[in-house]
Amino acid sequence: MECQLSIALAEQKREKPATDKLGFGVHFTDHMFTMDYTEGKGWHDPQIVPYSPLSLDPAAMVFHYGQAVFEGLKAYRNKEGKVWLFRPDQNFKRMNRSLERLSMPSVDEEFMVDALKKLVATDKEWIPTESGTSLYIRPFVIATEPCFGVRASHTYKLIILLSPVGAYYAGGMNPVKIYVENNYVRAVRGGTGNAKVAGNYAGGLKAQVEAKEKGYEQVLWLDGVENKYIEEVGSMNVFFKVKGEVWTPALNGSILEGITRDSTIALLKDWGVPVIEKRISIEDLHAAYTNGELEEAFGTGTAAVISPIGDLNWNGHQMIINGEKTGELTTKLYETMTGIQYGEKEDKFGWAV
Ligand code: PMP
Repeated sequence: MECQLSIALAEQKREKPATDKLGFGVHFTDHMFTMDYTEGKGWHDPQIVPYSPLSLDPAAMVFHYGQAVFEGLKAYRNKEGKVWLFRPDQNFKRMNRSLERLSMPSVDEEFMVDALKKLVATDKEWIPTESGTSLYIRPFVIATEPCFGVRASHTYKLIILLSPVGAYYAGGMNPVKIYVENNYVRAVRGGTGNAKVAGNYAGGLKAQVEAKEKGYEQVLWLDGVENKYIEEVGSMNVFFKVKGEVWTPALNGSILEGITRDSTIALLKDWGVPVIEKRISIEDLHAAYTNGELEEAFGTGTAAVISPIGDLNWNGHQMIINGEKTGELTTKLYETMTGIQYGEKEDKFGWAV
């Protein structure tokens, strides 16, 4: 479906940051996409407008009961100046699953991919070109109806913002230190862990702060019932290479279905590496470590793509993985995935668009 939307270009352009000062998600481009929803009328008034603050009623339901979902993906510009998106259809599919979970109205996935392409084209001068840099894309939907009643809002706003971001591994790929969290939980089955909703992240902050105080960069989340089975690492999915096999927690209703996770599994299977999606207890992982069988560990997600784990602390049991060096398979996955994302490596799955 060809997407019809109105475009109002910014008269005043914002100042572009220097490539070495990009950071993550702190600079925003000249334009944004917005679209409104009204019950009975559906989604209406899709438009690209100059980036600007919003005017919202302080009683808007998003501020009170947290009906807010979001997505995250990236646009990559390669040496020839070509711009690529990585599996954007999957982000709008997942956005619809998140919207459904919070009783919010779904969007037309094809229309959204098309609208996103138009927005990225409008601000393409903002996409940095240095190796490893990209344009982070943040679509989100909030409840806008002013009402204190605890029920689903009747009006919503969908916005897409763009933010040029620096290379995640400016100083090379560094394995991170992870604290296995056994006090706080991120999600429970039947809750909202498998949806990308704002509240999940607010609830995770305290564990992250406490892990940082202990000298760890992120936490490894365990399940919310038995505090025993591995779920995710920070806001990434997690993989372990054990005796030549790759293990990752099976999707169980409380784990977010990462698009990088899905792509990692597809690549590994294509390479003939056995991938096992199963319940992984922290005891079993520790036993594999003690037996010298835990060869590599890494997280997967849009921001870092692949993030090696060098050190895991579980109740004082320290697991040093691969001598705190990035493993061979981790490196191969990172290079293949980023090669596809920049349109520079063979893309047999047709992921880059
Ligand atoms: N888990 C959580 C909780 C996340 O927020 C993310 C980032 N979206 C991921 C996993 C990884 O998902 P993706 O590969 O789609 O970025």
